[in-house]
Amino acid sequence: MRRWRHHLHRIPETAFTEHRTSAYVAGVLTGLGYGVTTGIGGTGLVGSLTRGASGRAVALRAELDALRIEEHSGVEYTSTHPGAMHACGHDGHMAMLLGAAARLAEEGGFDGTVRVLFQPAEEPGRGAQAMIDDGLLDRFPVDSVYAIHNIPGFRAGQLLTRTGPIMASEDDFVIRVVGRGGHASAPHLVIDPLVVAAEIIVALQTVVARSISPTDTAVLSCTDVVTDGARNAIPTHVTISGDTRSFDPAAQAVLERRVRQISAGVAAAHGATVDVQYTHEFTPTVNDPGCVATAERAASTALGGEQVDAHADPIMASEDFGVLASHVPGCLVLLGNGAEPGAGGVPLHSHDYVFNDAILENGVDFYVELVRDVLG
Ligand SMILES: [Zn+2]
Ligand SMILES: [Zn+2]
Repeated sequence: MRRWRHHLHRIPETAFTEHRTSAYVAGVLTGLGYGVTTGIGGTGLVGSLTRGASGRAVALRAELDALRIEEHSGVEYTSTHPGAMHACGHDGHMAMLLGAAARLAEEGGFDGTVRVLFQPAEEPGRGAQAMIDDGLLDRFPVDSVYAIHNIPGFRAGQLLTRTGPIMASEDDFVIRVVGRGGHASAPHLVIDPLVVAAEIIVALQTVVARSISPTDTAVLSCTDVVTDGARNAIPTHVTISGDTRSFDPAAQAVLERRVRQISAGVAAAHGATVDVQYTHEFTPTVNDPGCVATAERAASTALGGEQVDAHADPIMASEDFGVLASHVPGCLVLLGNGAEPGAGGVPLHSHDYVFNDAILENGVDFYVELVRDVLG
């Protein structure tokens, strides 16, 4: 597994360009005796292995893609692709899933079909839908789907999950305010879009505070402001970018409606015009209660009960797994990558992040026990 992971780590490929990665994974799975279908939703692939005749099927998912980050982790198997890095540990997830695939092929001990899914483009939240649009769930039907994501900041090998929402939705917005620029000394002759944008940014802070129920969870962040102004010239254009997170489609709808209303209303009050682009990037990841119970049981057997927390707090980051889990009952589990910096504790998406090889075996033990439980 270390050899697989370190190879994959050297050749990180970003969303929908995972050609070498996909070919490598397909080669390993074929060697293990899996029936492999490639080219699903672009670079995605599925490996299937059947034992017995129960007709039941379970899917396990890993991600193929890396991030646009220049690596500074200092590992000796560092990225050979400039500007790309496996900074989210997807190389570790792939190695773990291949390890589980190998043990299941060798040892069996289940009655049904195991399908290992390797999806492209997890990071932009596009790959799961691309595979589904390509017939994934019709061509390779399954009764449930599971995935592991490593999580720095928790002790190595600790497994965390929860029933219901575990990771948030993400929507992006771009608000373009158009005024009329001019000389900085003559504000009465312009429509200053910067003042309008400032007012919009402040007013957006009332959305979560005043429009979302206090018992729901949501975040709205403005993260970037770009203008065409100069030190002594009032701009004509201001672009505000940002994103929102929530766990509930109803809250998601409120966030979008209020962003549009506030932007339009504030701009109109000042005689400026505004254009709002609001796009849905990630669905919330909602774990099925039955799948969580199964995962908790398998994890307790495989890792020991003291290593398992099935009532973990949700996370406001987002996961493309949410799309799969909205079609098929599913459960995402988080596997501690280590608590200390230098031993797996560096946060995901950092240029010095390192996946902790010591947890590969924990992931495999969990997956193998899970399959034997689901397809017992
Ligand atoms: Zn990531
Ligand atoms: Zn990730």
